[in-house]
Amino acid sequence: MLCFYCQEREGVTNDHIIPKRLYGTDTPSTVIRPIAPCCLECNGELQRSEKVLFDRLLMAVDTNDTDHNGINDRALRNFGFRLKTRDMSLRERKAREQNLKKLMQWVIPYDEKRNIFPNMGSKPGDYPKYMLKFPDEELKVFMRKFLKGMEHYLDNGRYIGSEAKLGMFSGVEDVIAAELKSQGFEDRAKAYEYGPWIKVWRLVEPEGHSLYKLSLFKTKPFIVYGFVLITDQPVPKPYIDISE
Ligand SMILES: [Zn+2]
Repeated sequence: MLCFYCQEREGVTNDHIIPKRLYGTDTPSTVIRPIAPCCLECNGELQRSEKVLFDRLLMAVDTNDTDHNGINDRALRNFGFRLKTRDMSLRERKAREQNLKKLMQWVIPYDEKRNIFPNMGSKPGDYPKYMLKFPDEELKVFMRKFLKGMEHYLDNGRYIGSEAKLGMFSGVEDVIAAELKSQGFEDRAKAYEYGPWIKVWRLVEPEGHSLYKLSLFKTKPFIVYGFVLITDQPVPKPYIDISE
Protein backbone atom coordinates (compact mmCIF):
# COMPACT_ATOMS: atom_id res chain seq x y z
CA MET A 1 0.00 0.00 0.00
CA LEU A 2 1.16 3.50 -0.78
CA CYS A 3 1.94 6.06 1.91
CA PHE A 4 -1.30 7.92 2.73
CA TYR A 5 0.61 11.18 2.95
CA CYS A 6 2.97 11.54 -0.03
CA GLN A 7 1.37 8.75 -2.09
CA GLU A 8 4.71 8.20 -3.77
CA ARG A 9 6.58 5.73 -1.59
CA GLU A 10 5.57 2.41 -0.10
CA GLY A 11 3.76 2.69 3.27
CA VAL A 12 6.09 0.40 5.20
CA THR A 13 5.20 1.81 8.63
CA ASN A 14 2.00 2.85 10.35
CA ASP A 15 1.40 6.46 11.21
CA HIS A 16 -0.72 7.12 14.30
CA ILE A 17 -3.14 9.71 12.96
CA ILE A 18 -3.75 10.88 16.50
CA PRO A 19 -0.24 11.03 17.95
CA LYS A 20 0.56 8.45 20.62
CA ARG A 21 1.72 11.14 23.03
CA LEU A 22 -1.84 12.43 23.24
CA TYR A 23 -3.09 9.28 24.92
CA GLY A 24 -2.80 9.25 28.69
CA THR A 25 -1.24 6.56 30.82
CA ASP A 26 -4.74 5.55 32.00
CA THR A 27 -6.16 5.11 28.49
CA PRO A 28 -7.27 1.44 28.14
CA SER A 29 -5.51 -0.59 25.46
CA THR A 30 -8.96 -1.37 23.99
CA VAL A 31 -9.33 2.24 22.83
CA ILE A 32 -9.06 2.48 19.04
CA ARG A 33 -5.97 4.28 17.78
CA PRO A 34 -6.46 5.08 14.07
CA ILE A 35 -3.47 4.35 11.84
CA ALA A 36 -2.62 4.66 8.16
CA PRO A 37 0.21 3.22 6.01
CA CYS A 38 3.10 5.66 5.90
CA CYS A 39 6.59 5.71 4.36
CA LEU A 40 9.64 6.09 6.60
CA GLU A 41 10.44 9.58 5.33
CA CYS A 42 6.97 11.03 5.91
CA ASN A 43 6.64 9.28 9.27
CA GLY A 44 9.91 10.79 10.48
CA GLU A 45 9.04 14.27 9.30
CA LEU A 46 5.52 14.19 10.72
CA GLN A 47 6.83 13.00 14.07
CA ARG A 48 9.37 15.80 14.29
CA SER A 49 6.74 18.40 13.50
CA GLU A 50 4.21 16.91 15.94
CA LYS A 51 6.77 16.88 18.72
CA VAL A 52 7.17 20.64 18.43
CA LEU A 53 3.42 21.22 18.32
CA PHE A 54 2.31 18.86 21.04
CA ASP A 55 5.14 19.49 23.50
CA ARG A 56 3.85 23.04 23.63
CA LEU A 57 0.21 22.06 23.62
CA LEU A 58 0.79 19.60 26.45
CA MET A 59 2.54 22.31 28.46
CA ALA A 60 -0.73 24.26 28.27
CA VAL A 61 -2.77 21.46 29.85
CA ASP A 62 -3.79 22.03 33.45
CA THR A 63 -1.31 20.01 35.55
CA ASN A 64 -3.74 19.87 38.49
CA ASP A 65 -6.35 18.10 36.40
CA THR A 66 -6.20 14.37 37.15
CA ASP A 67 -8.43 13.69 34.13
CA HIS A 68 -5.33 14.22 32.04
CA ASN A 69 -3.16 11.74 33.92
CA GLY A 70 0.01 11.01 32.08
CA ILE A 71 -0.09 13.46 29.20
CA ASN A 72 1.22 16.59 30.87
CA ASP A 73 3.75 14.52 32.80
CA ARG A 74 5.16 13.40 29.48
CA ALA A 75 5.71 16.97 28.34
CA LEU A 76 7.17 18.02 31.68
CA ARG A 77 9.57 15.08 31.71
CA ASN A 78 10.70 16.04 28.23
CA PHE A 79 12.00 19.28 29.69
CA GLY A 80 13.58 17.59 32.69
CA PHE A 81 10.91 18.54 35.21
CA ARG A 82 9.73 15.94 37.74
CA LEU A 83 12.81 13.83 37.09
CA LYS A 84 15.66 12.86 39.35
CA THR A 85 18.52 14.23 37.29
CA ARG A 86 21.11 12.29 39.32
CA ASP A 87 19.74 9.07 37.78
CA MET A 88 20.27 10.35 34.26
CA SER A 89 23.25 9.89 32.00
CA LEU A 90 25.12 13.01 30.97
CA ARG A 91 23.68 12.65 27.47
CA GLU A 92 20.09 12.47 28.74
CA ARG A 93 20.66 15.46 30.98
CA LYS A 94 22.15 17.48 28.08
CA ALA A 95 19.20 16.58 25.81
CA ARG A 96 16.73 17.81 28.41
CA GLU A 97 18.71 21.00 28.99
CA GLN A 98 18.50 21.63 25.24
CA ASN A 99 14.75 21.00 25.27
CA LEU A 100 14.34 23.41 28.17
CA LYS A 101 16.41 26.05 26.38
CA LYS A 102 14.12 25.70 23.37
CA LEU A 103 11.06 25.97 25.59
CA MET A 104 12.33 29.24 27.04
CA GLN A 105 12.60 30.65 23.50
CA TRP A 106 8.86 30.07 23.08
CA VAL A 107 7.97 32.01 26.22
CA ILE A 108 6.80 35.47 25.27
CA PRO A 109 5.41 38.36 27.31
CA TYR A 110 1.69 38.30 27.84
CA ASP A 111 -0.26 40.31 25.29
CA GLU A 112 -4.02 40.08 25.50
CA LYS A 113 -4.51 41.54 22.03
CA ARG A 114 -2.36 38.94 20.34
CA ASN A 115 -4.39 36.69 18.13
CA ILE A 116 -3.83 33.12 19.21
CA PHE A 117 -5.26 30.10 17.44
CA PRO A 118 -8.57 28.85 18.96
CA ASN A 119 -8.46 28.24 22.70
CA MET A 120 -4.78 28.94 23.09
CA GLY A 121 -2.91 31.62 24.91
CA SER A 122 -3.50 33.19 28.28
CA LYS A 123 -6.87 33.25 29.84
CA PRO A 124 -7.87 35.80 32.46
CA GLY A 125 -6.41 34.87 35.83
CA ASP A 126 -4.20 32.10 34.49
CA TYR A 127 -0.69 33.28 33.80
CA PRO A 128 -0.90 37.03 33.57
CA LYS A 129 2.69 37.73 32.56
CA TYR A 130 3.82 35.08 30.10
CA MET A 131 2.50 32.86 27.38
CA LEU A 132 3.87 30.23 25.00
CA LYS A 133 4.32 31.07 21.35
CA PHE A 134 2.14 28.78 19.30
CA PRO A 135 3.69 26.97 16.32
CA ASP A 136 1.21 27.73 13.50
CA GLU A 137 3.32 25.96 10.86
CA GLU A 138 3.34 22.71 12.81
CA LEU A 139 -0.41 22.91 13.36
CA LYS A 140 -0.87 23.22 9.59
CA VAL A 141 1.34 20.17 8.99
CA PHE A 142 -0.55 18.19 11.61
CA MET A 143 -3.98 19.18 10.28
CA ARG A 144 -3.01 18.29 6.71
CA LYS A 145 -1.94 14.88 7.94
CA PHE A 146 -4.99 14.50 10.21
CA LEU A 147 -7.41 15.21 7.33
CA LYS A 148 -5.63 12.92 4.86
CA GLY A 149 -5.19 10.25 7.52
CA MET A 150 -8.76 10.26 8.82
CA GLU A 151 -10.18 10.11 5.29
CA HIS A 152 -7.92 7.15 4.58
CA TYR A 153 -8.87 5.47 7.84
CA LEU A 154 -12.63 6.10 7.78
CA ASP A 155 -13.23 5.85 4.04
CA ASN A 156 -11.91 2.45 2.95
CA GLY A 157 -8.35 3.52 2.29
CA ARG A 158 -9.26 6.61 0.29
CA TYR A 159 -6.27 8.67 -0.84
CA ILE A 160 -6.52 12.44 -0.73
CA GLY A 161 -4.31 13.85 -3.45
CA SER A 162 -3.59 17.25 -4.91
CA GLU A 163 -7.06 17.40 -6.51
CA ALA A 164 -8.50 18.18 -3.07
CA LYS A 165 -8.45 21.45 -1.24
CA LEU A 166 -7.59 21.15 2.44
CA GLY A 167 -8.32 23.86 4.94
CA MET A 168 -8.54 24.62 8.61
CA PHE A 169 -10.45 27.37 10.28
CA SER A 170 -8.74 30.34 11.77
CA GLY A 171 -10.11 33.16 13.83
CA VAL A 172 -12.14 33.00 16.96
CA GLU A 173 -13.37 29.50 17.69
CA ASP A 174 -16.76 30.79 18.87
CA VAL A 175 -17.47 32.43 15.50
CA ILE A 176 -16.72 29.27 13.53
CA ALA A 177 -18.58 27.13 16.07
CA ALA A 178 -21.67 29.37 15.80
CA GLU A 179 -21.56 29.29 12.01
CA LEU A 180 -21.30 25.49 11.94
CA LYS A 181 -23.97 25.16 14.62
CA SER A 182 -26.37 27.15 12.45
CA GLN A 183 -25.72 24.59 9.73
CA GLY A 184 -26.43 21.74 12.19
CA PHE A 185 -22.88 20.39 11.99
CA GLU A 186 -22.81 18.36 15.21
CA ASP A 187 -26.32 16.93 14.72
CA ARG A 188 -25.51 15.71 11.25
CA ALA A 189 -21.91 14.64 11.82
CA LYS A 190 -20.82 11.23 13.03
CA ALA A 191 -18.86 11.32 16.30
CA TYR A 192 -15.89 9.09 17.11
CA GLU A 193 -14.28 8.78 20.52
CA TYR A 194 -10.64 7.81 20.68
CA GLY A 195 -10.08 7.76 24.41
CA PRO A 196 -11.35 9.83 27.31
CA TRP A 197 -10.44 13.22 25.86
CA ILE A 198 -10.00 12.75 22.12
CA LYS A 199 -13.12 13.25 20.02
CA VAL A 200 -13.53 13.52 16.25
CA TRP A 201 -16.63 14.56 14.32
CA ARG A 202 -16.90 13.90 10.59
CA LEU A 203 -19.62 15.18 8.33
CA VAL A 204 -19.74 13.97 4.74
CA GLU A 205 -21.75 16.19 2.43
CA PRO A 206 -23.46 14.76 -0.69
CA GLU A 207 -21.04 16.75 -2.86
CA GLY A 208 -18.25 14.57 -1.51
CA HIS A 209 -16.50 16.90 0.87
CA SER A 210 -15.79 16.15 4.49
CA LEU A 211 -15.89 18.51 7.41
CA TYR A 212 -14.03 17.65 10.61
CA LYS A 213 -13.93 18.79 14.17
CA LEU A 214 -11.15 17.59 16.46
CA SER A 215 -11.39 18.13 20.18
CA LEU A 216 -8.47 17.36 22.50
CA PHE A 217 -8.41 17.39 26.30
CA LYS A 218 -11.29 17.28 28.73
CA THR A 219 -11.01 20.57 30.52
CA LYS A 220 -10.28 23.64 28.39
CA PRO A 221 -10.40 21.52 25.22
CA PHE A 222 -8.29 22.44 22.25
CA ILE A 223 -10.64 22.47 19.26
CA VAL A 224 -9.75 22.73 15.61
CA TYR A 225 -11.91 22.39 12.49
CA GLY A 226 -10.79 21.34 9.05
CA PHE A 227 -12.20 20.29 5.74
CA VAL A 228 -11.44 18.26 2.64
CA LEU A 229 -13.03 19.79 -0.41
CA ILE A 230 -13.23 18.07 -3.77
CA THR A 231 -15.65 20.39 -5.53
CA ASP A 232 -16.02 24.17 -5.45
CA GLN A 233 -18.62 24.05 -2.69
CA PRO A 234 -18.57 27.08 -0.42
CA VAL A 235 -17.16 26.69 3.10
CA PRO A 236 -17.51 29.09 6.03
CA LYS A 237 -14.82 31.78 6.12
CA PRO A 238 -12.23 32.62 7.30
CA TYR A 239 -10.10 29.57 6.79
CA ILE A 240 -6.42 28.85 6.21
CA ASP A 241 -5.58 26.93 3.06
CA ILE A 242 -3.36 23.99 4.01
CA SER A 243 -3.34 22.20 0.64
CA GLU A 244 0.15 21.36 -0.54
ZN1 LIG B 1 5.23 9.28 2.35
